[in-house]
Amino acid sequence: MRLSTLPVFMLATVCLAPGPAGQGPGPHPRAAELQQWGVHDLTRPMAPVVDPGPAGPPAPVPADAIVLFDGTSLKEWVTAKGAPASWAVRDGYMQVVKGGGSVKTVREFGDCQLHVEWAAPAPAVGVNQDRGNSGVFLMNMYEVQVLDSYESKTYADGQAGALYGQFPPLVNATRKPGEWQTYDIIFLAPRFAADGALTSPARMTVLHNGVLIHHNEELTGPTAHKARPPYKAHAARLPIGLQDHSHPVRFRNIWIRDLAQ
Ligand code: MG
Repeated sequence: MRLSTLPVFMLATVCLAPGPAGQGPGPHPRAAELQQWGVHDLTRPMAPVVDPGPAGPPAPVPADAIVLFDGTSLKEWVTAKGAPASWAVRDGYMQVVKGGGSVKTVREFGDCQLHVEWAAPAPAVGVNQDRGNSGVFLMNMYEVQVLDSYESKTYADGQAGALYGQFPPLVNATRKPGEWQTYDIIFLAPRFAADGALTSPARMTVLHNGVLIHHNEELTGPTAHKARPPYKAHAARLPIGLQDHSHPVRFRNIWIRDLAQ
């Protein structure tokens, strides 16, 4: 039975059932929590705040990393349709331009270690999800939320560092708007059998400002708004995406280590 043909409300039941040995993932380690909290549930507790300490200079780039943004050029980035990216580049950072659209890398990646630095607009504008919203999308479909979650409330699975719609971060290590923040993401791509069945889910380990916020977390499927859709088989390598959510979020010093070679 293909999960993609089932209504969403039936998926929890199906996903809880262990697959045949070696042919599919077993029950999600946090299945009970996923059942307890609906997507974007406002009563789900937000992550406790942890002060990560002050921002530092841009992180050093490892010798075997591919630099995706060096502060001067968007040559590694294109729009969803493949046109040159039109975000603003100045003073060593790129900034979302409202209406410029989300961007993605020209290169494609599967398993990887990704370093991203970002800053929310200062002074803060808006509330909830309408406040410094952007996102880092692994394989252009699995989002680590970018949001100004400094002394700001939203639904837990949508705060900064959340695996959007699925898991809040373990802690809220957000710095003040305008201050540079880091995401270090270790991503394992999902695997699919020849018939399209999921054999291994995507996994994320994430550090926010050096603080662990996800530890080998198993994703339930691709990111969606108000939904937790199932996996659909896709290519082994896909672009990294950055979201245009109409807020002037800044990014700098983006590099990646390809772990799938
Ligand atoms: Mg977002």
